[in-house]
Amino acid sequence: MRIKKLETFCDPYVGFVRVTSDSGAVGWGQLSTYNADITAQIFHRQVAPWALGADALDIDSLITLIPEREHKFPGTYLCRAMAGLDTALWDLRGKVEGKPVVELLGGTPGKLRAYASSMRRDISAEDEAQRLLRLRDTYGFDAFKFRVGRECGHDVDEWPGRTEQIVPAVRRALGDKVSLLVDGNSGFSPKRAIEVGGLLQDYGIEHFEEPCPYWELEQTRQVTEALSLDVTGGEQDCDLSTWRRMIEMRAVDVVQPDVLYLGGISRSLKVAAMAAKAGLPCTPHSANLSLVTLFTMHFLKAIPNAGKYLELSIEGLDYYPWQDGLFVESPYTVEDGHVTVSEAPGWGIEVSPQWLERSTYQVSEVNS
Ligand SMILES: [Mg+2]
Repeated sequence: MRIKKLETFCDPYVGFVRVTSDSGAVGWGQLSTYNADITAQIFHRQVAPWALGADALDIDSLITLIPEREHKFPGTYLCRAMAGLDTALWDLRGKVEGKPVVELLGGTPGKLRAYASSMRRDISAEDEAQRLLRLRDTYGFDAFKFRVGRECGHDVDEWPGRTEQIVPAVRRALGDKVSLLVDGNSGFSPKRAIEVGGLLQDYGIEHFEEPCPYWELEQTRQVTEALSLDVTGGEQDCDLSTWRRMIEMRAVDVVQPDVLYLGGISRSLKVAAMAAKAGLPCTPHSANLSLVTLFTMHFLKAIPNAGKYLELSIEGLDYYPWQDGLFVESPYTVEDGHVTVSEAPGWGIEVSPQWLERSTYQVSEVNS
């Protein structure tokens, strides 16, 4: 079965990919979010030419070949574009075999614990604590992530004292029974991160994400070695050799690949396998309600070293208006703090025809 046609449907935030084989089989995937319109250009210029005519069912070979053929262009845009191809091919294969992707990966559909993940720093400690409390009472979440420091903040907080305020405020509001996670988004020097880590440990925070500039693996390792809580990271990293180094040097306690930043499911499986070999759990990054979180649900239900929970963004249309109306039916219903991976073939999702109608369309196909 050969790849015959590759179509993209984009706006600047999100882009879907439809692959069609010479047998007429179809699969849907997604480019990584943000600057998806730029990523679509890369997709048609540097990904599609290698994919058209290739075996639609040998996903791994194709996803290995493309970075070699485009080896002068390593980096995030190529990976973001390849992710669209990879995820569309997994959907196609699932539909051909009549199985959900999770089963193709060796797992089973069903329930998955989610943590409620805040994306905001422009919110006071008290307001954030109250917001998370409402989510606990409405949806039954028992794990929550909030933000400390400032993005690439060089030890300067979003406003003075916010980190010291929000950690006790959230713990006090939600009580001792819930799991609490924080994200530093590259905000701290090792010295300050270790100091903040002491405060986190005092309040029973179990996960300290990206404490130091993420590209400074040695800095992150210093923090990991100094603290007893889990130091985690890796969401931006899309180079497999960086992943190998990060895991070998034990820069983090938990690896957090983003399945779309990294280039899709096939490459994410490689990172999860490296981590498994080193005894490290994998808790991927999935920070919005496009398809990245659904892909991550199938992935987490299949890998042997899945971390404790799925990242589920709590931000709605007020914060991410571009998430409006993407799907015929949302795959992100939460009950008792759990989402569910369905038994439907492929990803089990249908992109909204109205959304597709409004999008920018491009096509690459085999000349016949
Ligand atoms: Mg993060």
